[in-house]
Amino acid sequence: MNERIHMSSPDVGELEEQYIVNAVRSGWIAPLGPDVDAFEDELKARLGVEHAVALSSGTAALHLGLLALGVGTGDVVVTSSMTFAATANAITYTGATPYFVDSLPDTGNMDPELLREALDELVSKGSRVAAIVPVDLLGKAVDYTAIESVADEYGIPLLCDAAESLGATHQGKPAGSFGSASIVSFNGNKIMTTSGGGMLLTNDSELAARIRYLATQARQPVAHYEHTDVGYNYRLSNLLAALGRAQLTRLNDMIARRKALRDQYRQFFAKVSGVEIFGGATDAEDNYWLTSIIVDSELTGWTSQDFQRALSQDSIEARPLWKPMHLQPIYSNAPRKVNGSSESLFLSGLTLPSGSALHDEQVDRIFTSISNFLAQGSTEA
Ligand SMILES: *Cc1c(COP(=O)(O)O)cnc(C)c1O
Repeated sequence: MNERIHMSSPDVGELEEQYIVNAVRSGWIAPLGPDVDAFEDELKARLGVEHAVALSSGTAALHLGLLALGVGTGDVVVTSSMTFAATANAITYTGATPYFVDSLPDTGNMDPELLREALDELVSKGSRVAAIVPVDLLGKAVDYTAIESVADEYGIPLLCDAAESLGATHQGKPAGSFGSASIVSFNGNKIMTTSGGGMLLTNDSELAARIRYLATQARQPVAHYEHTDVGYNYRLSNLLAALGRAQLTRLNDMIARRKALRDQYRQFFAKVSGVEIFGGATDAEDNYWLTSIIVDSELTGWTSQDFQRALSQDSIEARPLWKPMHLQPIYSNAPRKVNGSSESLFLSGLTLPSGSALHDEQVDRIFTSISNFLAQGSTEA
């Protein structure tokens, strides 16, 4: 049996090993240290923001970002339905209610007009909307120009979930630099990884200081342990920051590798009627984190699920796009403003192996498997 090909495996090698060994030898094990500071400085410089706080996960960054914006029990936080559960869960941790807004049909990102309708309704019935959390889906930045203008109209802060979009831009400005604050993730499957980790980015020094304080057990600046707030143990460790620094030096190369794969898929599927590369008219500003296709089964004669099964038989991982939050059992009672787009993307979309660590022989295996599936499909028809 062939070795299984995953959708997005960590791309970690000798350079990363060197950085981690150096960090261990430096003696900075427990848990903060110079690699954490340097990692924050390097990501700040890359994204052009003033403050960065390295944290144990993207989820932790969302949680503390919301708390620092004053989100709590009784509040509503408006977010994208088309996202990974971590976004909605972080809202729930604070005691606030997540409110799900549906997608633009082409990019899957939050529909700004639907956001406006949602805010209109919420504000007119007296709900306190404490924050808006737009999500950059699969490495494409939200239309921040439109979303920021709606948020500004209502005076509601944006906490931008850029967990999937590090390296992408919107009109030339980096994902991770928008809103009152943004968060990124370094989980093992993301475009770059610290094995597990995240960072919060902001130009607001008070917000950054508050998050740093909450992330280190909310200790008052006195010698004995004195606490006036409930704190968290959410900082990134120095060893993992070292791994992140190595990855950051390779980020552009890893993006280029993923783009090459996207281009190869695009060229291949251009000949297949009923299959489109997901993501809208242009992907020039994406980080190409994951490449997905949208299947029109009336034209192809097969569904994305048929295709997924065939790939799986060849030990190749492929998955549907995120199942929208408004369709999740845990959020079945959550308020929402939906238009059917995310549901239809969930039903017809399939994400293909997209990792920068895939080598040529694995890529050949993927395209052979796809070609075999298509050849079979057409003989059966
Ligand atoms: C991965 C992800 C997160 C969570 O990041 P972790 O580092 O895994 O906690 C949050 N939001 C989105 C959209 C993600 O894809």
